[in-house]
Amino acid sequence: MKQRVCIAVFFAVFLAAGATSSILELTPPISGLALKDLRDSFEEVHNGHRHEAIDIMEPRGTPVHAVVSGTIRKLFLSKPGGNTIYEFDEAGVYCYYYAHLDGYAKGLQEGMRVERGDVIAFVGSTGDADARAPHLHFEIHELGPEKQWWQGKALNPYPVLVDALKRTR
Ligand SMILES: [Zn+2]
Repeated sequence: MKQRVCIAVFFAVFLAAGATSSILELTPPISGLALKDLRDSFEEVHNGHRHEAIDIMEPRGTPVHAVVSGTIRKLFLSKPGGNTIYEFDEAGVYCYYYAHLDGYAKGLQEGMRVERGDVIAFVGSTGDADARAPHLHFEIHELGPEKQWWQGKALNPYPVLVDALKRTR
């Protein structure tokens, strides 16, 4: 009996560690990012919706880096998001979403594998972003069992990026 509990605990810890690994190893999507560049706007209401994202203000054309190694699951042109990327981590547990992109890196394709730090796109103001205020709109979704790129549970990227900056400093 005791042994069985022990094995159950071992697997729970193992699963929890696996499930959080890509978030714990994430690097910032913009190089040279500092704490002062980050503002928590997850709970703010933008255009009638809970924002559930972070906006990183950067000049148009600034390279956007893959925050984890994984797969480009979807390249999607949306009315609010403009040019967007949905990237799945290697375990297919989290989806990282990049929006308002000016354009994609040359040769970027759906289904393509990318390494953490690869340039995947450039900052812009496509979609409903103000053309005078280009920025990267970045979201983190915990995927459900169906692994659908268009839906997941939004996690606040702010504390995740703060931790990433502390790690990479
Ligand atoms: Zn935003």
